[in-house]
Amino acid sequence: GPVFKNARLFPEKIAIKDRIAAYTYGNIFMSAHELSKEITNLLEGKTNERVLFLCPNDIHYVITLWAIWMSGQIALPVSPLHPKSLLMYYANDSNSKLLITVPEYTDLMSRVATNTSTKLHVLDDRLKLNCTLMQASQPCDLEGGKDDDFYSKSDALILYTSGTTGNPKGAILSYKNLAAQTNSLIKAWHWTHEDTILHTLPLHHIHGIVNALLCPLHIGAKCIMLPKFNANTVWSYLLGVSTRPEDRRVSVFMGVPTMYSKLIDEYDRVFKEDTKMAEYIRNTLKTKVRLMVSGSAPLSEPLYQQWEEVSGHRLLERYGMTETGMTLSNLYDSDREPGYVGVPLPGVSVKLMEEVIDDKSLSKVLVECSNIDGTLVYNKNGQKDENGDDPIGELFVKGENVFLRYHERPDTTKREFTSDGWFRTGDMCQYDVDKKKFRILGRKSVDIIKSGGYKISALQVESSILGCPTVKDCAVLGLTDEKWGQRVVAVISPTSSGNESALVEELRLWASNKLPKYAIPKEWRFVDKIPKNAMGKVNKKELVQMVFSKR
Ligand code: ATP
Ligand code: MG
Repeated sequence: GPVFKNARLFPEKIAIKDRIAAYTYGNIFMSAHELSKEITNLLEGKTNERVLFLCPNDIHYVITLWAIWMSGQIALPVSPLHPKSLLMYYANDSNSKLLITVPEYTDLMSRVATNTSTKLHVLDDRLKLNCTLMQASQPCDLEGGKDDDFYSKSDALILYTSGTTGNPKGAILSYKNLAAQTNSLIKAWHWTHEDTILHTLPLHHIHGIVNALLCPLHIGAKCIMLPKFNANTVWSYLLGVSTRPEDRRVSVFMGVPTMYSKLIDEYDRVFKEDTKMAEYIRNTLKTKVRLMVSGSAPLSEPLYQQWEEVSGHRLLERYGMTETGMTLSNLYDSDREPGYVGVPLPGVSVKLMEEVIDDKSLSKVLVECSNIDGTLVYNKNGQKDENGDDPIGELFVKGENVFLRYHERPDTTKREFTSDGWFRTGDMCQYDVDKKKFRILGRKSVDIIKSGGYKISALQVESSILGCPTVKDCAVLGLTDEKWGQRVVAVISPTSSGNESALVEELRLWASNKLPKYAIPKEWRFVDKIPKNAMGKVNKKELVQMVFSKR
């Protein structure tokens, strides 16, 4: 809806800039309209069909997404990073009726098409060229798309969850959901049409799609799309030393924690020794860039601090998931500190529920808070317990932002919603009563380790271990243990290879100075690299397999 309206309001404004050219709102609209007619033909006039598309992170992606929406279908964006087996899983599970791709991926996608008996449409090479050449000077040129009534009732996207806790599930998001999510972020993070975002995130995930692409398109801002994240290239854009002068004004950057850590590595490699340069970098970033966001995976305290040292920016951390979009965010204007994900975003309600006896019965509400038009309203104030500890519970979410259902998984959908419409996130949170903000402790199923009667947040143990200078990366696991129920195991990627038993000694000492006794890892394992997916998430189930099958 609003995205198409922008094409009518200011057709000549630049919406997307990729490695090749700049594209106006009007031109993208017209190209998408052409493609939408083809899609309608291929689907014989039907609407509400799933259309899976694999496009690089450039103008092809945007045109295709708009075209799918204009022809009234449900878009399923997938990534070139996905293996063929996963692409097939998505196509089958979603029951997609049409696949769209660019010439570059024809071979791969025709195999997926054959295996799933789906139609394949390969985009014409000229699509991109035409989009730069089109002249949409007259607002009245722009016709196409469905009417408002269609968009107010229909499904827009099917996005697959990352599959961290089981098979990826297709979450169906309506246009209304997307409008709620983008409106909320635009308001909370002060987006304006004058912003320019540097986009380097994968485009099959809510972060790259909603936060970093739909927000700027919705408000009429400009999005510079890079084919993939590359630390060196990102630095050159952030510092404004890249290419053409018109690109030297990046005002917003969003990343997952691993991107910031790669940017720091690159900084150490190229600039660190040069103190003048270091100062120049901090000054430039502070004046040019107004917002740097981190999310999708936990941001450790050491990483937060290192990034502040390098860039002068305090990262704005937020928390969200495929099913809900963004739900908690630090406030734009108030001071930020590491370890917190803030408060509910505009239009979002959250509550913390206490776990009672067994994991299935949840009853007591610990905190309930809604953000109504920017004002926080507490239905239940959080209180410290008799030991003076802040309340901990599972997070539930409600609001227009929350998805409709899992695709063809009625039982799962039913299980994850309460009868009064709250969605259960599966994440454990703590509410800081004094600071009035939330922190994420991790997934109930893999990050909350129950050891010797204590509940330990793997995320918090990771954050303290990461502060140790000899640790490059780290993931903390809970393994079944006869004596403790579960024992805390740390998997470490060291900064340099050395004597393992000396390392263990150093790490033990470090941990015993930082952590309560029960949270100190009982076992230390070493790997070259902690495997992470494109969103910087560690799949802990896979990590257990990897580390413990090597024995
Ligand atoms: P699946 O649902 O298939 O198991 P997944 O939950 O990893 O996979 P996503 O929807 O991509 O799939 O990720 C959402 C999850 O990411 C959240 O539930 C939370 O555990 C984690 N997450 C997101 N943002 C943050 C953050 N700022 N800090 C810590 N964890 C975060
Ligand atoms: Mg999930």
